[in-house]
Amino acid sequence: MTEPILSIRNAVKRYGSLHALDHVDLDVSEGEFLTLLGPSGSGKTTLLSAIAGFVGLATEQITLRSADITRAPLEYREFGMVFQGYALFPPMTVSDNVAFPFMVRKRPAAEIAERTQECLELVQMGGFTDGMPHQLSGGQQQRVALARAISFKPQVLLLDEPLSALDKKLHADLQWEFKSLHSQLGVTFIYVTHDQDEALSMSDRIVILKDGCIQQQRSSGDLHNSPRNSFVADFLGKSNYIDVDVTGRNVDILYCAAKDATFEVQAENVDEIGSKARLALRSERLRIDAPGVELLSATVKGVSYLGERCQVIVEDDGLGDLLISCTTLQTGITPTPGLEISIGWDTNACVVLVPE
Ligand code: ADP
Ligand code: MG
Repeated sequence: MTEPILSIRNAVKRYGSLHALDHVDLDVSEGEFLTLLGPSGSGKTTLLSAIAGFVGLATEQITLRSADITRAPLEYREFGMVFQGYALFPPMTVSDNVAFPFMVRKRPAAEIAERTQECLELVQMGGFTDGMPHQLSGGQQQRVALARAISFKPQVLLLDEPLSALDKKLHADLQWEFKSLHSQLGVTFIYVTHDQDEALSMSDRIVILKDGCIQQQRSSGDLHNSPRNSFVADFLGKSNYIDVDVTGRNVDILYCAAKDATFEVQAENVDEIGSKARLALRSERLRIDAPGVELLSATVKGVSYLGERCQVIVEDDGLGDLLISCTTLQTGITPTPGLEISIGWDTNACVVLVPE
């Protein structure tokens, strides 16, 4: 791995007896779109603020391109920032807002004017230079805040839930714009959100936080398919849990038994034959009437249609209730309560969870 642009070691932040950050280690690669994802109160803002230099930590070391910036003042860190509230200066015009970081740095007037216009055009606000913040919609204000944050070409851009105050449609549009701006600029983004879909669709890598601790960090796809524990599995979608006895192993295939059912699971993190394990199986990885992978027969208990997808709850004598999420066109049959169906999944669909 190349040298990370930013490294955090052993970040600890306590408020009284509360651990807002509990021994967090994090490396961020140059140019990466990294997302800190977690429920409210999990420590996302605290971690971002510690990186920015707003919040001091008890024990830590923060390095930027190998230089120790742990005690460096805010200004020295040169990070761009965008927050949830739009945080534009109300009495200043759009272009003065964007020019502000330059004015603080006492750059020549011609350079300020040129760069301000360039940044406003990058966020598609080139025509609004003389507007005042209160004349802009929420989405437009957030675009201007973004232009201001990138104007002085920061090494790292820190974004704390920048889209959470916007309505759903605007949220989706801006999500794509932020993402494309990231590719265009090549700047490292550290992005905070509590929104799983946003994190999964935007990020190169996601770090999941809970109670100030990192639960798992992987690429979006890996995280969705291979949650490490039940917190991550629950947080990123709907999973079924199956408690099994491990009865054997052949290379990376684990033989498992649960009541009457026996099946194979691809797993490397369980060594002991005879031990108990908890498996997570994503609702969308369960298939109905799937030739070749039929494992169990089950009875449909309930069905709900959500547009093109449908959710089916089935009951199996051994495994209890299982939730299946499928597209309505995929299944050859129409699931109705009481119907006996066969269900199955691929060997690589189940993951073995680590106890929390
Ligand atoms: P998130 O951004 O993930 O919602 P925060 O980082 O804001 O979470 O907060 C993490 C925890 O620290 C929460 O329990 C929060 O109540 C607590 N906390 C944050 N800031 C302060 C503060 N200034 N004083 C006391 N507790 C705080
Ligand atoms: Mg927060």
